[in-house]
Amino acid sequence: MKLSKHLLLFFFSICLFSTQVSAQNFDNLKRYKVSFALATGANEKLIALRSFFANNQKYLLLVNPETLDTKVDLAAGYTTSSLQYSNVLAIFKNTAYIKSLEAAAAKDLQLQNAGIDHAIPNEKGITLTIDLCPSHKALDRIIFQSVFDEFKKIEQPAPLAVSVSGKWMLKHQDDLNWLKSLTEKKELNITWVNHTYNHEVNKLPLAENFLLAPGTNLDVEVLENEKLMLKNGLTPSVFFRFPGLVSDKTIVEKIEAYGLIPIGSDAWLAKGQQPNAGSIVLIHGNGNEEVGVKDFIRLLKTKQADVKNKQWLLFDLREGLEKEFE
Ligand SMILES: [Zn+2]
Repeated sequence: MKLSKHLLLFFFSICLFSTQVSAQNFDNLKRYKVSFALATGANEKLIALRSFFANNQKYLLLVNPETLDTKVDLAAGYTTSSLQYSNVLAIFKNTAYIKSLEAAAAKDLQLQNAGIDHAIPNEKGITLTIDLCPSHKALDRIIFQSVFDEFKKIEQPAPLAVSVSGKWMLKHQDDLNWLKSLTEKKELNITWVNHTYNHEVNKLPLAENFLLAPGTNLDVEVLENEKLMLKNGLTPSVFFRFPGLVSDKTIVEKIEAYGLIPIGSDAWLAKGQQPNAGSIVLIHGNGNEEVGVKDFIRLLKTKQADVKNKQWLLFDLREGLEKEFE
């Protein structure tokens, strides 16, 4: 009798423990910081990018350098050895993760659209990225609904990337919960991309605008946004989208030193750029880009037959880069 009581208690605590991890309730997370480490788990070798404390336990944000997948896990499950960012680059230089960082850095000279702007060369389809900059308007749910409707028999969950800004998340809890429900129902597979906390925009020329504005605090823009993502139950990916797609060489280097890969676009639909095979397509889903949304819905319609014949697919940003750099 005594034994079974103990057993019951044991199973009860296991249940409690596992719901805690899977629910990923990080409302009270603290001491969030960049901390690179080699993290060796039971049967995987990962890179820890961040560490933090929540629910009296230490957690790590980890990336698999081969697949570019990220996850949050209890630090206790890993043996870790701290690394400088330069060591990460050297040790993992043959992985898709580091090759992607290097490819993005090689394209950092222009003022607009630095980073990776084309995912898989010559593949039949595109990678869809949807930016959620701060906005007073509601989410363009039609984009997500249309993707699901068109692809449900072909690719389910259909992959797409959503770049979230902190100020959007704070004002659009209902829309955010709706997006999360689509991923929970396995209708869509969303890669969450950091799009900065404040996403400032001013009236100055591009060289002093967006993240290049004087007085920008990158720790706030990058880390506070990640914290807010985690508090909202989103797992930050290793991708970063510059507000306005505006950057310079210095800021690209600084963003990469957080372990983040800048993602540009070679097909910003509202600017009239036409997607081709392997394009990273950009539309804004924050209610402020009616033209882009209409263009995208039209694009889906024209590709309807190709989609059915699997001649026009949506690609996961992570898988695309894994394929390109494997
Ligand atoms: Zn934006």
